[in-house]
Amino acid sequence: MNTDQLRANVKAMMPDVEKDLEKLVAIPSCAFPGFPPEHVHEMADATVDLLQRYGLPSARKVDVPGGYPAVYGELAGPPGSPTVMMYAHYDVQPAPPEQNWDTEPFVPTRKDGRIFGRGAADDKSGIAIHAGTFRAFEGKPPVNLKIVVEGEEETVSHLGDFVYANKDMFQADAFIVADMGNLAPGEPAVTSTLRGHVHCIVTVETLDHPLHSGEFGGVAPDALVALIRMLATLHHDNGEVAVKGLTSFEWAGGDYPEDTYRSTSAILDGVQLIGTGTVGSRLWSKPSVSVLGIDCPSVDKASNVLLPSARARVALRIAPGSDADHEIETLMAHLKSVAPWGVHVKTERGKVSNGFAVDKAGSAYEASKAALTEAYGKPAGDCGSGGSIPLLDILKDVAPKAQFILWGAEDLALSRIHANNESVDPNEIRDMILAQSIFLNKFGGN
Ligand SMILES: [Zn+2]
Repeated sequence: MNTDQLRANVKAMMPDVEKDLEKLVAIPSCAFPGFPPEHVHEMADATVDLLQRYGLPSARKVDVPGGYPAVYGELAGPPGSPTVMMYAHYDVQPAPPEQNWDTEPFVPTRKDGRIFGRGAADDKSGIAIHAGTFRAFEGKPPVNLKIVVEGEEETVSHLGDFVYANKDMFQADAFIVADMGNLAPGEPAVTSTLRGHVHCIVTVETLDHPLHSGEFGGVAPDALVALIRMLATLHHDNGEVAVKGLTSFEWAGGDYPEDTYRSTSAILDGVQLIGTGTVGSRLWSKPSVSVLGIDCPSVDKASNVLLPSARARVALRIAPGSDADHEIETLMAHLKSVAPWGVHVKTERGKVSNGFAVDKAGSAYEASKAALTEAYGKPAGDCGSGGSIPLLDILKDVAPKAQFILWGAEDLALSRIHANNESVDPNEIRDMILAQSIFLNKFGGN
């Protein structure tokens, strides 16, 4: 099917796509422990139903041991054509009242040309893009297509073990992950790198038990004060990460304008941006470190004692291409090396995930950029992503020759994924269905 026909098909299906997406957004499919499981199952069923209606009769639920089902299906292309597997996830982040949404998070709401609601972008838009792609080809795709839609991306995922136990299902020449987005609506870009993620818990002990701060303070060190001093060494005065030995490089692709960053982040007036180099470098190719939480008495419960122990969870986003084991060991060694006053320090590593870099020499990368350029009518750039997708490493492990495409309708400027007032631009979904369809044509050699 040629591009003109595809474009016409996509245009004609959009009213349905938007309505169907709204139905998905209305299902609060939060897979975190403690949330009602029936909504997650309802969402899995709704995903199967949508895919079947849009041209994938084989769509079905598959059991993922220990977790929620995934949705899987395949559709044969012409004999001898390559195989492309599409990925999205149907679970969502929670949307608790303290996030202060302007609209009800699970009541899809149209405003300013966008659809607001939890999961409208992340990642129910990805499901819409894949379903739309099946429909665009009217059941006759130019390549062999497979799809997996996971139900536990935002929480503890069991899909990795499932992939290792079912390697045949996950053989493909290319994977398309539709859980990303352009920098701004209408500005096409493929994501070529992802940062990785590591974290550790650091515990400081100074005393056997709490001491009266008047009788003992000024001589015996307080564990919380020691911990704060250690955490304060993680950054230079300008906010650049000060941990020596971490991997870091300058981003060479398109940049993220500072004004756009400022207007789309929740940064308050007068608060400075931290770090050095372009915003792209700071977000996509340099490490960033944050303190996620500290265990110590709360202000309300605080009393006049020297604290014997305190601990913090420290998280590090690592540069694409770096070795996660090396980076976490470097962070933990740094924390130990800066401990003051001989205090006792324990570090405990958490889960690590490597960064990811798309193979730019591969045919899929060029084809994806060309497809975006054609669909949007303007040249596609490439950007990185500061986030991490641990599954990519696993897919690469079971299908080492496969190429990867990371894109989607979660535009960085306005989508606000994981935050309040998440939304998606339906035109991004339309253009991404078309781009994905054009890509499949190109990848299939048409
Ligand atoms: Zn996502």
